[in-house]
Amino acid sequence: MLKKNQLYEGKAKKVFAVDDGDLLIVEYKDDVTAGNGVKKSVITGKGVINNRITNHLMQILEKAGVPTHFVKELSPSETLVKLVKIIPLEVIVRNIAAGSLAKRLGLEEGTPLSKTVLEYCYKDDALGDPMVNDYHIAAMGWASSEELEKIAAYSFKINETLSEHLKEAGVRLIDFKLEFGRLPCGDVILADEISPDTCRFWDLKTGEKLDKDRFRLDLGGVNEAYNEVLKRLLGC
Ligand code: UDP
Repeated sequence: MLKKNQLYEGKAKKVFAVDDGDLLIVEYKDDVTAGNGVKKSVITGKGVINNRITNHLMQILEKAGVPTHFVKELSPSETLVKLVKIIPLEVIVRNIAAGSLAKRLGLEEGTPLSKTVLEYCYKDDALGDPMVNDYHIAAMGWASSEELEKIAAYSFKINETLSEHLKEAGVRLIDFKLEFGRLPCGDVILADEISPDTCRFWDLKTGEKLDKDRFRLDLGGVNEAYNEVLKRLLGC
């Protein structure tokens, strides 16, 4: 599959057109950002790790009945995916209080939530991805109520499937961010990535952070932590 023109370059990925107009190539970058792009660095090898972890987890989810944009891994840092129109929402799924939720509600980080919490943010960097609810989403026409019901059901299923899978690898799934898109036929499928950049992963035994918080909080060992997740999930 030959890469054609670059369509888009984001903070962590580049997207290219291919001959088949229903598909795209995603290339993962080594760049890392936090605080809406304010803090920046390069972590050599991160693109390869995130590509491989994402593809592994997307395939687990497909098997569990969640439709995803994954088609084929083309190289260590490049993947062929289905073209979708991204729904402009970041869907946050939380099992344990951490990050912005811990701050907002004054909870100690690590406090278990008695029920899984879903949050929606409007994807807009200039506005700082503000949190929105079902009413904002309906009023702005970002997704229909049927689509939002499907997005919520998929998000809970993804949480169950990934929590179980990661637990077997000695990793606790604290929270994560999902993005969904519409195929040309209108079906909603999971898109974007599922990686240590977009999830909080804690070691099941020690509670050690194995995700982007190591970069956000200047804890060091970012590359080592990402590699550890890859090794536990894929054995290499
Ligand atoms: N997250 C993300 N992209 C964003 C915001 C959040 O991937 O733009 C992920 C983040 O890595 C974490 C979860 O969503 O796993 C919840 O993030 P939170 O709202 O706590 O915000 P943060 O503390 O990351 O600012």
